[in-house]
Amino acid sequence: MDSGDQAALRAEGLSKSFGGLDVLHGIDIEIGSGEFLVLVGPSGCGKSTLLNCIAGLEEITGGRLFIDGREVTGEPPKDRDIAMVFQSYALYPTMSVAQNIGFGLKIRRVPKAEAEAKVREVAGLLQIDHLLDRLPAQLSGGQRQRVAMGRALVREPALFLFDEPLSNLDAKLRVEMRAEIKRIHAATGATIVYVTHDQIEAMTMATRIVVLKGGHVQQIGTPEEIYDRPANTFVADFMGAPP
Ligand code: ADP
Ligand code: MG
Repeated sequence: MDSGDQAALRAEGLSKSFGGLDVLHGIDIEIGSGEFLVLVGPSGCGKSTLLNCIAGLEEITGGRLFIDGREVTGEPPKDRDIAMVFQSYALYPTMSVAQNIGFGLKIRRVPKAEAEAKVREVAGLLQIDHLLDRLPAQLSGGQRQRVAMGRALVREPALFLFDEPLSNLDAKLRVEMRAEIKRIHAATGATIVYVTHDQIEAMTMATRIVVLKGGHVQQIGTPEEIYDRPANTFVADFMGAPP
């Protein structure tokens, strides 16, 4: 969220193996502050694994990771200043929307009045400020996804990680939420790494796209570059451009 010249995230030769299975092979990426980087590739290519490694939920087996210029390789998730939004957005069923959004502030002992103001601000941004007293069971799928985003947003992390957050929603809602996430990105200047297997989602949301196949980066570029000048036939085929 700062406009420093430090990369918001840098991965150098990041590798990950599970036992004998090599999943990520020396990934090099650098993400500028305020970027909306979309990681796209076929199922099983290592997208979630890469996101989990960035979050610290999986330990990397090679390479180094930096957030805002600070090395975080080996640091536990709680020290990384990252918020992650998953596909399955488990909300606390007995807590209201306001309590769900504010929970991360409560456990960090942010004073009550300050926390409540922050929750209202984020709920306003997400246009769910009329739902603050509801329980998750009383919300639609799209509203629940907004609450899940609210929980991430209140923490004001250096980096947001999204793992296919819209894939449980129907097609119409998915299109609406794409626009919504783009609006939130523009309004907050947040740095986002967003995983999807959906090429259209990648093309419409990204400031830059990383195309991954079999744990190898195939190409990094703007949507225009990827579409107009695919680096190889895989990228051309996968992203739907003529070879
Ligand atoms: P994607 O998110 O692109 O669909 P994943 O990152 O989930 O792909 O998985 C990449 C590969 O790593 C797959 O072959 C998957 O089976 C394997 N994998 C992921 N997590 C684990 C794990 N915890 N243990 C063993 N293999 C895993
Ligand atoms: Mg995945």
